Amino acid sequence: MPPTSGPRYHRSVSSLVDLRSDTVTRPTATMRKAMAQAEVGDDGYGEDPTVRELEAAFAARVGKEAGLFVPSGTMANQVALRVLAPPGTAVLAGRRSHLIAYENGAGARNSDAQLTPLDDHGGRLDLDAVALAVAGVAHHLAQVGMVAVENTHMASGGQALSVEAMDALRTAAGDVPVYVDGARIFNAEVALGVPAAQLVAGADAMMACLSKGLAAPVGSVLAGPADFIAVARIERHRLGGTMRQAGVLAAAGLVALRTMVERLVEDHRRARRLAEAVAERWPSCGLDPNEVLTNCVVFSHPDTDRLLDHLRMAGVLGGTIAPGVMRLMTHHDIDDVGLERALSALSSAPV
Ligand SMILES: *Cc1c(COP(=O)(O)O)cnc(C)c1O
Repeated sequence: MPPTSGPRYHRSVSSLVDLRSDTVTRPTATMRKAMAQAEVGDDGYGEDPTVRELEAAFAARVGKEAGLFVPSGTMANQVALRVLAPPGTAVLAGRRSHLIAYENGAGARNSDAQLTPLDDHGGRLDLDAVALAVAGVAHHLAQVGMVAVENTHMASGGQALSVEAMDALRTAAGDVPVYVDGARIFNAEVALGVPAAQLVAGADAMMACLSKGLAAPVGSVLAGPADFIAVARIERHRLGGTMRQAGVLAAAGLVALRTMVERLVEDHRRARRLAEAVAERWPSCGLDPNEVLTNCVVFSHPDTDRLLDHLRMAGVLGGTIAPGVMRLMTHHDIDDVGLERALSALSSAPV
């Protein structure tokens, strides 16, 4: 049975406390107004002023030369792969990263890359493995085309990667392009108190999602040097991602970028409360609430089906990211009332 429909659900999804993902956020009234009033043109001709404004504002915000609006974070990653990693080269990324684990094999299908999973404990790539792989081309090993890292790293419970960790990765990667999947880079910015531009300064290119914690309905932005973005624009077209009067979407994205970042601190506070409740209920689940600094609560559970059922009966939706691994995510549409419902559902869950 799909998790959000069927006879067991007597409530509509919107009355549930939906902790499955921060992608379920709906656009705010301000966004809808901006969308209705957006100036638009044909972005296939580069003539949508609102898309251009978003691309420029985003690039400036993350300290890169140029930006490219794409329909999804997955497409941003796929475009980056196609531009940065020549066919047949190895792409180093965390084994639990979105790029490797959660894109339905798109990297292999779209870019002829040899995806090479590395250990990603706490969201940090194994730097010795990176340096060895990069040095390997002198020893008959595949050339490394790109190193990708996630900030924040979802599968490790939204861990934020510091500037120091990025610098170390930059050093290990040598001359190989470093790409940051920054789907939630603004969560990292807020949690670390370090501007996103600084967090990605060592990266050749990066992306962030507007459609997650920032609550825009659609879209991500890829950013990097102008010549990278020029090629990325062509690859976006090849993947079918060129949109036309996309200013209606970019308008919401601009509101997201300009007004929805600081409030992420609320999501982080609530995720921490959830983590405390989880750690109290299941002390051996491998979750240290002190390490939950962003909006993502990931923990092991021996019977996730049973736990999800229990939560659902209490009006709370959660999800899994691997067998035996639960995920609860806070976001703009979860307020303190929703939080309390989730906390009480967790505290009454079967152990
Ligand atoms: C959500 C996510 C993506 C993909 O974004 P979509 O818009 O869902 O395609 C990529 N990377 C990470 C880390 C994500 O969390």
